[in-house]
Amino acid sequence: MAKILCVLYDDPVDGFPTTYARDEIPKIEGYFNGQAAPTPAAIDFTPGQLLGSVSGELGLRKFLEASGHTLVVTSDKDGPDSVFERELLDADVVISQPFWPAYLTAERFAKAPKLKLAITAGIGSDHVDLQAAIERGVAVAEVTYSNSISVSEHVVMMILGLVRNYIPSYEWVLKGGWNIADCVSRSYDLEGMQVGTVAAGRIGTAVLRRLKPFEVGLHYTDRHRLPPDVEQELGVTWHPNVQSMVKVCDVVTINAPLHPETEHLFNDELIAQMKRGAYLVNTARGKICDRDAIVRALESGQLAGYAGDVWFPQPAPEDHPWRTMPHHGMTPHISGSSLSAQTRYAAGTREILECFFDGRPIRNEYLIVDGGKLAGAGAHSYTEGDATGGSEEAARFTKS
Ligand code: NDP
Repeated sequence: MAKILCVLYDDPVDGFPTTYARDEIPKIEGYFNGQAAPTPAAIDFTPGQLLGSVSGELGLRKFLEASGHTLVVTSDKDGPDSVFERELLDADVVISQPFWPAYLTAERFAKAPKLKLAITAGIGSDHVDLQAAIERGVAVAEVTYSNSISVSEHVVMMILGLVRNYIPSYEWVLKGGWNIADCVSRSYDLEGMQVGTVAAGRIGTAVLRRLKPFEVGLHYTDRHRLPPDVEQELGVTWHPNVQSMVKVCDVVTINAPLHPETEHLFNDELIAQMKRGAYLVNTARGKICDRDAIVRALESGQLAGYAGDVWFPQPAPEDHPWRTMPHHGMTPHISGSSLSAQTRYAAGTREILECFFDGRPIRNEYLIVDGGKLAGAGAHSYTEGDATGGSEEAARFTKS
């Protein structure tokens, strides 16, 4: 029988919900590319309920315990004295979400001799030292596509929020003001602007599709070019590298995974090549941007605004400069954890576990590492290596 160690974010400060804002969520059976939504044999939760926090348990307890497995759920994930590190010693499977990542560094792998599978409940397995997983023969799987559309909606919201100066205008309302001039002196229309995405994978192309009706110029750069008919349908211009794309863009959105190729891609040098007053939206991974270079660019006016929901490390310490830099529209890491998305990635996590316990292959599109090498989606989008360096700083966060 296996031990499954599941790291989830804390319950709401005012308690686990007993009622919800809506009675139902739309049932999504498949995605744009024809991939089927998760197909577990059954689920033991109500779609649309909170599953990603500790008491939600991703809806897994009944299923796992019925088969005699042990499920340990905790939010205490950082530092050598954490529950996660103590429970890791004899864990067979680790599950965590990128929103509240249980960093699986090489040191932690070394403490987990029984570990066979690391599941990302969501998308983006950069919190796992993939190199160490490869070397130790531990499989890594994520629920590909489960929250890609959720994130693309967030990207569009954040682009509009920055360009139209939504958050500062909302704040004038809270302050009791009617300060039109204060609000509009940084407010523009998106119409006619040039918008580019770094990566045109599932999220990147969904962003392009959603932005097309806004009558903007669309651009992308990616290691693999989109099929010509898709480029034509979207009216999108391909750039051979990020440098040539950012030069012509008023808005840049980052939708690539974090791996050695993209770590600190947006540094002083690249940002200096952007148009003065460009907006940067990053819902991919915090570490794709150089933290201090972003602050400098906002302070100097090189960037007119920065928004996103991804930080490094996570949770971000109280004194992380992105909390207080000017003209930002940051949220905690939430875009891929809407109640709608949770329904899909909880079901996908269960599907992966069912396959693992039954000895059936895990869907190829869910695989990141398998058999001691990058596999499936991982072989397509990642490079070997480790992007977890510095994650121990997450232990500095104190709950409020
Ligand atoms: P996909 O795998 O569909 O797309 C990733 C794309 O990035 C691929 O097209 C890949 O190219 C491209 N890419 C990889 N390296 C580079 C590079 N150096 N330059 C340009 N493009 C590159 O994943 P998704 O679109 O579903 O997700 C993308 C990322 O978004 C995830 O890895 C994750 O980090 C983040 N994410 C964030 C969430 C949130 O809640 N904020 C939720 C979900 C995901 P190719 O395959 O063509 O080589």
